[in-house]
Amino acid sequence: MTAFDQTPVTQLRGIGTQMRDKLARLGISTLQDILFHLPLRYMDRTRISPIGSLQPNTEAVIEGEIRGSNIVMGRRRSLICKVQDNTGLITLRFFHFAAAQRHTMVVGTTMRCYGEVRRGSAGLELYHPEYQILDGKQPEPLAQNLTPVYPAGDGITQHRLRTITEQTLAMLNNDNLSELLPQTQANETQQSSLVDALRFLHRPPANAPVEQLAKGEHPAQQRLAFEELLAHHLSMQRLRQTIRQQGAPAFGNAKQLTTQFLKVLPFALTAAQQRVSDEIATDISQPVPMLRLLQGDVGSGKTVVAALAALRAIASGYQAAIMAPTEILAEQHRQNFEAWFAPLDIRVAWLSGKLKGKARAYQLSGIADGSAQLVVGTHALFQDQVEFHNLGLTIIDEQHRFGVHQRLALREKGRSDSLTTHQLIMTATPIPRTLAMSAYADLDVSVIDELPPGRSPVNTVAIADQRRLEVVARIREACQAGQQAYWVCTLIEESEHLEAQAAEVTAEELALLLPELSIGLVHGRMKAAQKASVMNDFKAGKLKLLVATTVIEVGVDVPNASLMVIENPERLGLAQLHQLRGRVGRGSVASHCVLLYSTPLSRQAKERITIMRQTNDGFMIAEKDLELRGPGEVLGTRQTGDVDLRIADLQRDAHLLDDVKDRAQEIMLHHPELVTPLIRRWLGDRESYGQV
Ligand code: ADP
Ligand code: MG
Repeated sequence: MTAFDQTPVTQLRGIGTQMRDKLARLGISTLQDILFHLPLRYMDRTRISPIGSLQPNTEAVIEGEIRGSNIVMGRRRSLICKVQDNTGLITLRFFHFAAAQRHTMVVGTTMRCYGEVRRGSAGLELYHPEYQILDGKQPEPLAQNLTPVYPAGDGITQHRLRTITEQTLAMLNNDNLSELLPQTQANETQQSSLVDALRFLHRPPANAPVEQLAKGEHPAQQRLAFEELLAHHLSMQRLRQTIRQQGAPAFGNAKQLTTQFLKVLPFALTAAQQRVSDEIATDISQPVPMLRLLQGDVGSGKTVVAALAALRAIASGYQAAIMAPTEILAEQHRQNFEAWFAPLDIRVAWLSGKLKGKARAYQLSGIADGSAQLVVGTHALFQDQVEFHNLGLTIIDEQHRFGVHQRLALREKGRSDSLTTHQLIMTATPIPRTLAMSAYADLDVSVIDELPPGRSPVNTVAIADQRRLEVVARIREACQAGQQAYWVCTLIEESEHLEAQAAEVTAEELALLLPELSIGLVHGRMKAAQKASVMNDFKAGKLKLLVATTVIEVGVDVPNASLMVIENPERLGLAQLHQLRGRVGRGSVASHCVLLYSTPLSRQAKERITIMRQTNDGFMIAEKDLELRGPGEVLGTRQTGDVDLRIADLQRDAHLLDDVKDRAQEIMLHHPELVTPLIRRWLGDRESYGQV
């Protein structure tokens, strides 16, 4: 028989093109997919529960005698039926019913029902139970196994999914779904075979531990999660190997440029900056592509580290590129690098999506002929028209905004002959360990764990919107004392347009309340040049208050700004709040962040605000964020696809990761023939980005 991963669902009885398409929408196209589509939960229809023992919010089968039925006219018309056994009495309640239904509910006949027990106005009730009136008939036999409830889609019933899995399970054996984990004595969770685990999970026996299953902690579930995580890890490792097999230019030490640069710099490197620079320098002095993630909390000074790496590339005759996720940040990098590199006679090119016409052509030609040694830009950098002369190093700032694909696309740009580029990825969103091990398994990690001297931690307070005027007064005070402030507007919808509007309205309102202040406005709908000019005026101190949307979230650096008001912080996630708050606390005066929230706050929002008040530590915040939101969201939508797990859950299964790593090593060493089948089984085509 053909392997399940090669067998389309249409091989099953009764599946035509329509059902095939519906299943495809659930991500199911092969028999293997059917089996990896695990139940969300289970119903216990294996035994009849005494009515007296029922608990609210559980599901149960009961059997009893009908004591009466009635149509009542409460808020909604409903059909009520009372059923009693020798332990108690319960009410069945139906909202959708046919009048004829009532007549079948004859007092004194026996009825078997299955449904969810709820607390209703008449004590415990079964809502919309499935039922069978026995009436002397033989009841349907009770289920032998727990009944699976699957994630379903439009037009696919649970019943259908059950028959489909039933058919598939009947055909399942070790030949059509082969065992890919070599057996070891090691760990029990890895012991049961894949086939056994799947059989168990689709049709657990009546005595299966339901609570453990509900938590996803059953050995059969863990067995599958383990294999899936293993496949992801192997895929990352393989990607890494493929990349490392390509050569990269080995850079020399750039002594002269570095000395000159450090002389221009108005401060000394922190010990942490020096250490990570050394780590990077070691990497890029090798003819093997660097793949390094540089983590450093907001304001820790990653840009200088990037500059030092770029100097090494440039001194060796190669180009370096820095890619930033937003125009504002790219523009700011451009200004920094121009100021730093002009005295060194290094030409900085600049590219953004909004750059058009002659100006664009000029930049492109400098990039192509190599006269521009450093290129700063947004994701416009990896568009097709951009050709580099000899790119040797790519630096990607604020990585969490970009996906793995984009990161690799920029690497492609660098390929000349057989050489590829070194890659440095910088992020202020600390990647929690669990994520680092999966989504970033192909990267080495450096951490800047120290802030430049003289920073004082930002003091964060939460104030309800009713006290808005007090907050306005604080802005007045701060600005009178010579400092500057941000006022950040947020919106729930991902609409730049609405957000821009809100910011405009707020700016007008604040202008009325603070007529003595010069107020600037920046949002995502403005032209790049306009944005840049406002940012420059703010940086130069010409503007005292900057009203902004979350476009200023990353990277913006104005040390004299010491007060930030974030309006409706409840709409933002922790990572974003932390990023925003990082715009203040960059100078030597004590800084403040006011979270100006609207009441009432949801429990989650309250929790986030409390965490923000308690800590400035980005790592702690990231861990909390992961706890509250889960990995998909923490990495941002772009990256979700990269850790798209079917069965495993990075948080729940984090304890498996050490074993996963060990097993991956062992498999690569002793069973290399299993690597490809494992990756294909769990990632399918999704690995294609690995083909660099
Ligand atoms: P981030 O890591 O958030 O990208 P930046 O590179 O923007 O941080 O640096 C934040 C601020 O700290 C900048 O104004 C930068 O000039 C300054 N800075 C960086 N390194 C040092 C240092 N060693 N001493 C003092 N200030 C520094
Ligand atoms: Mg930065």
